[in-house]
Amino acid sequence: MRPTDQTIALSNPDGAQLGTIQKAGLAILAAGLFAALIALGVRENSQPWLFFIVSFGLVTVGTLIFIINTFLSQPPGVKNNGIWFKPISSRKNAAYLLGIIITVFYIVLYWFPGYLENWIRMCDPLSQLLRSKPADQWFLYGTFYTISIVIMGLRAILKYRHSPYQIIRTSSIIFFQLGFAYLIPALLQFLNQPEFYFSYFWPLKYNYLFPNDIHSLLSQPGGLGVFMVFWTAVMSLIATPILTYFFGKRWYCSWVCGCGGLANTAGDSFRQLSDKSLRAWKIERRTVYSVLVLIVLITALLWINSFSGGTVFGSLSTGLAKSYGFFIGAIFSGVIGVGFYPIMGTRVWCRFGCPMAAYLGILQKYFSRFRITTNGGQCISCGNCSTYCEMGIDVRWYAQRGQNIVRASCVGCGMCSTVCPRGVLNLENGPMHGRMENGPIQLSEKGPYIPS
Ligand code: SF4
Ligand code: SF4
Repeated sequence: MRPTDQTIALSNPDGAQLGTIQKAGLAILAAGLFAALIALGVRENSQPWLFFIVSFGLVTVGTLIFIINTFLSQPPGVKNNGIWFKPISSRKNAAYLLGIIITVFYIVLYWFPGYLENWIRMCDPLSQLLRSKPADQWFLYGTFYTISIVIMGLRAILKYRHSPYQIIRTSSIIFFQLGFAYLIPALLQFLNQPEFYFSYFWPLKYNYLFPNDIHSLLSQPGGLGVFMVFWTAVMSLIATPILTYFFGKRWYCSWVCGCGGLANTAGDSFRQLSDKSLRAWKIERRTVYSVLVLIVLITALLWINSFSGGTVFGSLSTGLAKSYGFFIGAIFSGVIGVGFYPIMGTRVWCRFGCPMAAYLGILQKYFSRFRITTNGGQCISCGNCSTYCEMGIDVRWYAQRGQNIVRASCVGCGMCSTVCPRGVLNLENGPMHGRMENGPIQLSEKGPYIPS
């Protein structure tokens, strides 16, 4: 018996002790990371495949051994044992160190890719196989990103295997990342077609509705470029409102998008770090809608300039688009959005910066059938729902009042419902009428209470 099994405390300050198989998994993972570090420093690497297989292979195998043993050795059901006591998931020094490592990686990736040259060359054989051309920093990044989502997606499936919603949702995330955001763009390049991501739409992939990109796609020989323009316009402007009307923003933010996908898989251990304060909610509303207004404005200016032959705004609109790409597209969504996972939680970008989330949020709040219903009489105020809401929503506040949750920021991940021990919360699509009203039942010593 492990020493910590002897306590009957609900909250065990020591957390779980590692077993032999888990330690073996971590040792293999560490060996893979060590091999990757060596590969980074090797000059004239003549065996890129070997380094690729050894480093990626050991990391993958070690992580899988650890994950499978950790989650299959205990019965189904959410176990977040010791999450507030582990330094890595409770903003201790290890979390800051990890945050710095990820942030530095992003800075090097975006602006100093030369330092990653050996890792990029290590991906050459795979890139040749998939795209018929040598790797670059974005192929390296896409490979890291996709492997992270696949492996950590398997972890999420095992961890939440008692919940069909979480299993199907996580499988969808893996499918869209692997297929639509990695293999299909690679295949397009293999066939000498423009690189295109069918799972990203304007305003998240902001340049997809910029005049230059549209003109360039339309000038492609064959009909594929025309189809891409048609796809991006229809998905951004027609399908998005329709799907959001029926399903809320979850159809995109929690089932398709790679940013949300990474947050819900690789970032699962950090979701409890989101700030639940009213102040954070206020900041969130200001920043996320400002970014949306900015990108709508820039897109409009670019089109006006394009129609006028560049006489109206000159280089101003292009300069604005470039600045947006640097500050929002690179610094905010990449460096801060992922680098700050261990400190601010996993949806920093989705919550404070993503214009797609803002656009979907407005639709969800005012033109959607989606809501989370709460059976207030069952709530024991444990607070699990609020703790694990990655979007910083104080779910318990609504549950205690038996009030439906109709919040623009809710991404419909369903985790509040999954971790609720009393089955209080339900993600539902129903008639729009009356969805913002309070539920009828709240029990008190004086009998049922009907909120006005
Ligand atoms: S309220 Fe629930 S479904 Fe919505 S984002 Fe928070 S945890 Fe996910
Ligand atoms: S997790 Fe369930 S029981 Fe606990 S506070 Fe939230 S709604 Fe209430």
